[in-house]
Amino acid sequence: MRVWEGAGVRESLWERGGLAWFRPRCRTDCGACSVQGTRPFSLTAARAVLGLGSWGGDSGKQKLTLQDVAELIRKKECRRVVVMAGAGISTPSGIPDFRSPGSGLYSNLEQYSIPYPEAIFELAYFFINPKPFFTLAKELYPGNYRPNYAHYFLRLLHDKGLLLRVYTQNIDGLERVAGIPPDRLVEAHGTFATATCTVCRRKFPGEDFRGDVMADKVPHCRVCTGIVKPDIVFFGEELPQRFFLHLTDFPMADLLFVIGTSLEVEPFASLAGAVRNSVPRVLINRDLVGPFAWQQRYNDIAQLEDVVTGVKKLVELLDWNEEMQTLIQKEKEKLDAKDK
Ligand SMILES: [Zn+2]
Repeated sequence: MRVWEGAGVRESLWERGGLAWFRPRCRTDCGACSVQGTRPFSLTAARAVLGLGSWGGDSGKQKLTLQDVAELIRKKECRRVVVMAGAGISTPSGIPDFRSPGSGLYSNLEQYSIPYPEAIFELAYFFINPKPFFTLAKELYPGNYRPNYAHYFLRLLHDKGLLLRVYTQNIDGLERVAGIPPDRLVEAHGTFATATCTVCRRKFPGEDFRGDVMADKVPHCRVCTGIVKPDIVFFGEELPQRFFLHLTDFPMADLLFVIGTSLEVEPFASLAGAVRNSVPRVLINRDLVGPFAWQQRYNDIAQLEDVVTGVKKLVELLDWNEEMQTLIQKEKEKLDAKDK
């Protein structure tokens, strides 16, 4: 796995809100990287070079289609599905970008005159002024937003015993809310579901501090009074231990979905290349990204449209429409009852 100049985590944190002014740079300057930010090369140009008709590297082999993938799933020939999910999977749930002027969250954060937006995720700044981070936490704390069709598709994969793991870059916790059990999840950039005291390192359920966070209070440890920080990965902090499950998950996967991510974030992005060569990789995203643009394989499928439309197409091909509707309705009723 390549190491990127600067904090890879920083880049990843930025992607959460769709900001792309930090670009990772390959330390080895190998020229073979798939990091788009290092190449002033447009998507249109890329597609022209690749040729839409001759998609895929191995010209002798027949191009795989979404229909073929649906068949593989239906016949249970793929039953160790790994999913990589990014911000695009949460956009349909209305998760706000805290750097978008005009959003309520942006104006709530404006009052703090943050020196630069990424300071929210810097420990040094957090210890001086934790309030901006907790303003964001209040917005994203479990309960404010609801999963959408794409999250429930992952849940259905799990219910059918086909899901090996979801790797998500999102910190909104919507995969959990959708009912995907935590042991099927790798929340690569952390979670609000748990929290750690910054002084004594005691672990707490995130739920213990809901009252404080909702009342705009900085939560403190009941043992040592230190500030308690939700387990969101800050710049310079290590990725969660669970992230290393990728070492066994990806070689074992028999199908990879890459949904709603720009794959610009390391080390997350490189995972797409860690599945075996014979494994179909399906990108559902607005744009062609990462290895789908630069190191494509003959069994890559790119469904270039918005996430929900793309997933709906697949569900249609799988003939899972009815099951999806039943699941979504059942979960909606559960969440409605909780909200009461
Ligand atoms: Zn403590």
